[in-house]
Amino acid sequence: MVTGLTPEVLFQRAQRVTPGGVHSPVRAFRSVGGSPVFFARGEGARLVDVEGRSYIDFCQSFGPLILGHADPDVARAAHEAIDDGWSFGACEPYSLALAEFIATRLPWAERVRFVSSGTEAVMSALRVARAATGRSKILKFEGCYHGHTDAMLVQAGSGLAEGRVAASSAGVPDGILSDTLVAPLDDEAAVDALCDRFGSSLAAVILEPLPANYGLLPQRAAWMTHVVDRCRAAGALIIFDEVISGFRVGLTGMAGALGLVPDLVTFGKVIGGGFPVAAYAGRANLLDLVAPVGPVYQAGTLSANPVGMRTGLATLAKMERIDGWQALNDRTAHFCAELRDACAAAGAPIAIVQHASIFWLNNSPEVVRRVADIPADQGAWFSRLFHAALRRGVYLPPSGYEVCFLSMAHDAETLTAARRALVEAAMEAGRA
Ligand SMILES: *Cc1c(COP(=O)(O)O)cnc(C)c1O
Repeated sequence: MVTGLTPEVLFQRAQRVTPGGVHSPVRAFRSVGGSPVFFARGEGARLVDVEGRSYIDFCQSFGPLILGHADPDVARAAHEAIDDGWSFGACEPYSLALAEFIATRLPWAERVRFVSSGTEAVMSALRVARAATGRSKILKFEGCYHGHTDAMLVQAGSGLAEGRVAASSAGVPDGILSDTLVAPLDDEAAVDALCDRFGSSLAAVILEPLPANYGLLPQRAAWMTHVVDRCRAAGALIIFDEVISGFRVGLTGMAGALGLVPDLVTFGKVIGGGFPVAAYAGRANLLDLVAPVGPVYQAGTLSANPVGMRTGLATLAKMERIDGWQALNDRTAHFCAELRDACAAAGAPIAIVQHASIFWLNNSPEVVRRVADIPADQGAWFSRLFHAALRRGVYLPPSGYEVCFLSMAHDAETLTAARRALVEAAMEAGRA
């Protein structure tokens, strides 16, 4: 579809009917500046805008599209699902198939409950943890994103030692914040201090086992093990938020890669192959606290929507069949190594953090493990990089704090073209 209208005109109209013209804030390009591109379609590794220009896409809908845009097998699953009717609000075999696929492969996911967004999955997992422990407090980490449920929209404030935190959003009542504790990443002592003081009222610790929502901040395995051991010793449950890492870094996610067993785990993004699917899962005795078996209420009109269930299964089963994760992770490591070398040879300053098929472009000379260590000029540098890349036909996520994704559709030829464009863009961005 080509509308014949410029993106500027579309954006002006969108702002009249929608806050900021967007349905999720980063899409508005506020952090990189300029007017957002309007895309008409996606095809493999590429997005095509309303004026017919084509871009190599490293955003991939912020992660779900591990097979790339409009993968033919996922498209077939979606078409078949639509032909069969797209919502029953009743029992059907498609969610059973996806739940069994997951439960037979991830031993810590004995029971799976499907919901429609990562936010909802986190909200529900927290409710289960509080019900199971009879405790109220949740420990989270600065820079970890767990969706926009009230209790998780907080960051560390100056009152950290008191366990007090400041909201990252207006409209979040103080009462809710009093039950959320925030610690910095990569800091064993901070976790110890909070556990010493609040351990007996701690229901759960929630973390992204691969923090990927404030840059990509891979953590030391020793730190992660410390958090798990310390919180368990306090009687708290361990919630791994694998909405971004689950079925992305590998079939068994970061839990499998690290050999750490969570009590509860949340999934989203890749699990639906690009349709609105998420899930929370965990030990049978915890998930059986959920209605209709137990006293924890959680429901959803469109939960386990058959289209999402079938596209999700098509995505995961295909990745398993073709051994996609290994190939994609190797390809991403190779791409990042080549890009790093080419930028170094060209004298273009850039740092590339990569894990599995996720990478993050920044300009820090040091290894970054905490939000506080991200250079202050990351935003300004990245907006120069973003627009220089865009002019050369490469679409990066429109914020320097979002990560990039490779998909199976990013073939060697595409990646060579992307590398050339990104080296030039990095040179341009370096000339502040
Ligand atoms: C994306 C994300 C969420 C929120 O999921 P939505 O589907 O956007 O609500 C929660 N946690 C993590 C780790 C995420 O990456």
